[in-house]
Amino acid sequence: MKLHEYQAKELLARYGVPVNEGYVANTPDEVEQIATRIGKPVMIKAQVMMGGRGKAGGVKYSKDVAAARQNAENILGRLLQNEQNPKGEVVQRVLVADAADITKEYYLGATVDRGTKSIVVMGSAEGGVEIEQVAKENPDAIIKIYVDPRLGLLDFQARELAFGMGLGAHIRDFTRIAKGLVQTLIDHDASLTEINPLALTSRGLMALDAKMVLDDNSLFRQKWAEELRDPAEEEESERQAREAGISFVKLDGNIGCMVNGAGLAMATMDTIKEYGGTPANFLDIGGGAREDKVEAALRIILSDPNVKSVMFNIFGGITRGDVVATGIINVLNTLKPNVPMVVRLAGTNAEEGRQILEAAHLPAATTLDEAAQKAVELANRRS
Ligand code: GDP
Ligand code: MG
Repeated sequence: MKLHEYQAKELLARYGVPVNEGYVANTPDEVEQIATRIGKPVMIKAQVMMGGRGKAGGVKYSKDVAAARQNAENILGRLLQNEQNPKGEVVQRVLVADAADITKEYYLGATVDRGTKSIVVMGSAEGGVEIEQVAKENPDAIIKIYVDPRLGLLDFQARELAFGMGLGAHIRDFTRIAKGLVQTLIDHDASLTEINPLALTSRGLMALDAKMVLDDNSLFRQKWAEELRDPAEEEESERQAREAGISFVKLDGNIGCMVNGAGLAMATMDTIKEYGGTPANFLDIGGGAREDKVEAALRIILSDPNVKSVMFNIFGGITRGDVVATGIINVLNTLKPNVPMVVRLAGTNAEEGRQILEAAHLPAATTLDEAAQKAVELANRRS
């Protein structure tokens, strides 16, 4: 789950990271009130969860209240797009933040590094631009420090970063910020915390932009985060899936996939592609393939008007194929979808399951290839 800039800044501020004062507004009137209260030049910043807002026209310096209002009128309600996010997002809220005067922009980020089972902290004197771009064009400009999550960032490591980034003269402030950044990641089970730019200003080092991603697998113990969830940032179908306990990612294709197991779901999508089709989603109903989950998953898949066929790929392990087949038929009898389906059952009692499906006139496939080919054929026939 991604957080907005203003939410990430609020958390970082609690850990001693200096941020520029700012408030969220929904209307130009509110922007005007906030800008008047701040009484200095402000930045108007679109609160959408995409990088490169500045280049897309979503971050504007405003020298006075009138300019702030004008910029807010231009940004609010506008569709913000760029190369990384071609679909774009409509701006519903802006952050009105005290504009800092910048001497130089730096980058500072922390993320989980699975390879070394540690937290990697990355710093660069080339801030402001996307770090991916720096990594590609000038990888030596990024300093990496590996941190033991049980210890957090140690003083000597912070110093190594600071000197590497050319911030030796600001060692005390930098150490507090870098430690705060890492501790924010650890305490909130985040997979990423990022400050870009970390700016050298007339008031010292400050986080002028922040990004944070929480690990969805930890949300059960980060209950506070529920309040921060922005419904506008989530697809309706993804919300339903989350509530039903199903892993689901909506995609742009036309073949719905219902699979038990994340690895199997990936293989299913690959195979559909192999036969020239495009999956409409990634979906993992998890172990057990219980009827209520199958039903919820099928409702979600069918709510997408692009879906022209549905492929079930169920592996019977502890769950028996005949039980799954009966479950699928019960759900189809309830939902009566008018989209063609193909079911592939494998594993325990697969043969019994197939007999049940065939008796109900549902095409059953033995292999993954056969099922994918059939699903692609069915989808093509209807588009
Ligand atoms: P992003 O484009 O989505 O990463 O949004 P940022 O908040 O990082 O803003 C983009 C750029 O706008 C920054 O790299 C800065 O150059 C500039 N910027 C952001 N905040 C301020 C500020 O308070 N003062 C000034 N002068 N420039 C700012
Ligand atoms: Mg930025």
